[in-house]
Amino acid sequence: MSWSSIPRSRETDSSSDLSSGSLTRTYSSELLSPCSQLPSCRQWVPEEFPDLDFHQSFGLFLTRKNPISRAVDEDIARYWHILTTTPALLQYHIPDIGEGYRNAFRQFFGTEPISLHGHVSDAANPSVLTSLLMHLTAHATNPDVFFLSEEDRVNPRVATTHGSYGAGYGPLAYNSVVPEIRTLANGTKPFGINTHNPAKIGSQVKSAKAQGCVALIAEIVRAADGTAISPLSWRRLLEACKRYTLVLIVDEALTAIRCGAPFAHQLPEYCKFGYPDLILFGKAVRTNGIAVEWNGSNIRKLGITNAEQRDFLTLHWQERLTEMAHSSDLLTSWGTLVLAKTENWPQRAQIIGRILRNVIKGEGIKTSSIGGLHSLIYLRQKDNARISWPVMGANAGNYVRWLPTMDEVMTSKDELFTKVFGPDSVPHRKQVSAYLRSQRLEPRWCSGCGVAVETGVKIACERCVANQCEICEPGEHVCLLEDFDVDVDS
Ligand SMILES: [Zn+2]
Ligand SMILES: [Zn+2]
Repeated sequence: MSWSSIPRSRETDSSSDLSSGSLTRTYSSELLSPCSQLPSCRQWVPEEFPDLDFHQSFGLFLTRKNPISRAVDEDIARYWHILTTTPALLQYHIPDIGEGYRNAFRQFFGTEPISLHGHVSDAANPSVLTSLLMHLTAHATNPDVFFLSEEDRVNPRVATTHGSYGAGYGPLAYNSVVPEIRTLANGTKPFGINTHNPAKIGSQVKSAKAQGCVALIAEIVRAADGTAISPLSWRRLLEACKRYTLVLIVDEALTAIRCGAPFAHQLPEYCKFGYPDLILFGKAVRTNGIAVEWNGSNIRKLGITNAEQRDFLTLHWQERLTEMAHSSDLLTSWGTLVLAKTENWPQRAQIIGRILRNVIKGEGIKTSSIGGLHSLIYLRQKDNARISWPVMGANAGNYVRWLPTMDEVMTSKDELFTKVFGPDSVPHRKQVSAYLRSQRLEPRWCSGCGVAVETGVKIACERCVANQCEICEPGEHVCLLEDFDVDVDS
């Protein structure tokens, strides 16, 4: 029976208790009432059930927990209550919310979130980065470190490492993997630096500086194909950027937490050689922006060592905006960071990565073909399509990325092998399907290649939950899990 033929009375049945992660609402129906029959109701504690969704809206979520609940932090919940009941009164709390968020960020990442933006692409804008560097320089003990010529200021240029993510607009859009986005690029094309051969990094950084670059934006895991930079290449980048005073910025929008450390560059194999100067963060941290690493190899040269001086610089930069970011974002991010610290998500990322990589290897895919670091996993599309137990990943050109959540249940091999992978996962998958139908939701992403599937065109499978695009599976769905089918009382 296809989903479209399910009688309406059953479609709206609210008694089933299962949910899945980031899914689209395909109808404008009201939320159905919560289940009242089962004590462990997934609608209210979804984090207690492993997810079939490794897409999470391109990695926007690291937990299915509610980060603004009292169980996470009393203050966050109190401010959230004010926000949703008497929002005009929130203005009295804006400084405290900003302070709470900054403290949580510092305690978890060890760096200072100085500049906040709507999207990480905004933070990566060369004009923003240059203004921020000018601000830091203007208030520094040694103000001449990042000398910017008039020409640099008129047309600030950045360097980027090959295969980096790029941006949705502006100069970094020249690097986008999406051809249509490249047509929107403008400004000066970034200077490209190849990190493949560590011996050739120094001369390239020297040329970038000589050609007027104000900073180099690098990635620990290359967005284009999931290749992790070698520790030796990272060392050479740090050394060269320090030597030629080229500000080193690392883009951690996707690599934070998932790669087994608060920021991926803080993994022992990288941070033993030193630290970058600025960090771009976003996505699952739930705020987007630029953090300052006061121990960065170039930032240190400014001589900003005093805690009060650092505070002044940060607040002075943020004062140009009434609110450093909207309070709802700050509170969500604050709660997420509290959870990341108290539940030690970096450690969980290592455990989850180990389990999932073993599952993939069990499908006959070689270790050398599995990219990324820890729980950030890159698979070639053809390898992803070989996985016998379909899950939704996120497309990246010829690759599919697995971006699992960090909830405790995801660290349980037993839970993953009875609910996500293996023949025993069929009852759970069928229950998830039943729940989705009850909520009039459909999986949003093709389980083959990770692209968005058009809702309402194909009907997702009731047994495996897969909803594949026409390219991955033209015509009728042939369910790989048919042989393992069982009756489920949903
Ligand atoms: Zn597909
Ligand atoms: Zn199926």
